[in-house]
Amino acid sequence: MKGKVVGVLGGGQLGRMLAASAALLNIDIVILDVGENGPAKQIISPRSSSLTHIDGAFTDPEKIKALATKVDVLTVEIEHVDTTVLEEIQSTSGASIHPSPSTVKTIQDKYIQKQHLQCHQCPVSEFTHVHSNVESIRQTAEKLGLPFMLKSRTLAYDGRGNFIVRDLAQAVEAISALGNRPLYAEKWVPFVKEIAVMVVRSTTGEVRSYPAVETVHKDNICHLVFAPLRNRDPRVAIRAQGIAEAAVKTFQGAGVFGVEMFLMEDGSIYINEIAPRPHNSGHYTIEACETSQYENHLRAILSLPLGSTSLKVPSAAMLNIIGASSDMAEITSFASECIKTDGCSVHLYGKSDCRKGRKMGHITIVGNSDADVRSRLRPLMKALPSGST
Ligand code: ATP
Ligand code: MG
Ligand code: MG
Repeated sequence: MKGKVVGVLGGGQLGRMLAASAALLNIDIVILDVGENGPAKQIISPRSSSLTHIDGAFTDPEKIKALATKVDVLTVEIEHVDTTVLEEIQSTSGASIHPSPSTVKTIQDKYIQKQHLQCHQCPVSEFTHVHSNVESIRQTAEKLGLPFMLKSRTLAYDGRGNFIVRDLAQAVEAISALGNRPLYAEKWVPFVKEIAVMVVRSTTGEVRSYPAVETVHKDNICHLVFAPLRNRDPRVAIRAQGIAEAAVKTFQGAGVFGVEMFLMEDGSIYINEIAPRPHNSGHYTIEACETSQYENHLRAILSLPLGSTSLKVPSAAMLNIIGASSDMAEITSFASECIKTDGCSVHLYGKSDCRKGRKMGHITIVGNSDADVRSRLRPLMKALPSGST
């Protein structure tokens, strides 16, 4: 595998797990992110001076160009990057970029992403453009009804670009809470479950999907993942995979995509959003699948054969370890509890500071049945740092 060098825009936990996977395949990784010692940079040392990580913002055009000169393939662990400079690099330098800059550009604006999906007959719930003024919010309420979900088109993550408008009296508060960023709105979706499917797409356009999983969100942040999805109608899981694969086929470029979906009472499915990269709901694949989402992302962008996406255990659960305060000791003591549990793998991200709501690590529990996994998980849920449950 040695020979190709992969450059990653972003050096957080996704970059860390990608780098860990690359190390097993002897693939060199160069990280661009601020600081010398972030989560991804910590676990992999450059094997030669030409491969040293870059200290700089993954939004800085000069730093991105500097990264491009060192690598064969550029990829992202976050979609909030400068796509104009990526397009320029694509047309002027030898580095290939996966997924393609046009894909990242479409996906990073959630309104354009929704329009793209709708144009390609992918199921999405009703949505509409909104201007940042009270009159536009009033018109939106008339069109979509109340409550509706007001969303920032750009730079959203962990729900930090969402505002539930329950009452028109909240209009001014909603606009200022979303920082006067460009907005759109979605009809409220009364889903029964949230589900997700990871899909890997090769440079030749082959797609393979992982099993559908159930995701449980708390305060807009992914909290738990159960794999595989259990539902009274087993065809739902297969249908979710089909919808996710079809959606990913509408985009250009290789790599892993996370497709978040809403399951409705009548069994219908809407796509919520797509991430053009490995995804929190796919962490479980490290322990539970024949090839992890990280390894498959590398295989895809390097034109290697895609790996099997099958589960290799009957059941798995992933629990995010989210900061409850600035107290790092709460995280380490929780991790020490987890490590005593059979079938439990602990991942800590090496972040230097702990903050309320910050993703500090996760655990994956595997077992021979759902009952087995849930009985291993239950006591750990009770031991979570207070305030993060
Ligand atoms: P991520 O960290 O996944 O990128 P995000 O900031 O992009 O999150 P969304 O995925 O759009 O935010 O929304 C976060 C959560 O809010 C969803 O997982 C879901 O629980 C809820 N949600 C989003 N849109 C709607 C909707 N239209 N109706 C009801 N609930 C919604
Ligand atoms: Mg998102
Ligand atoms: Mg989301």
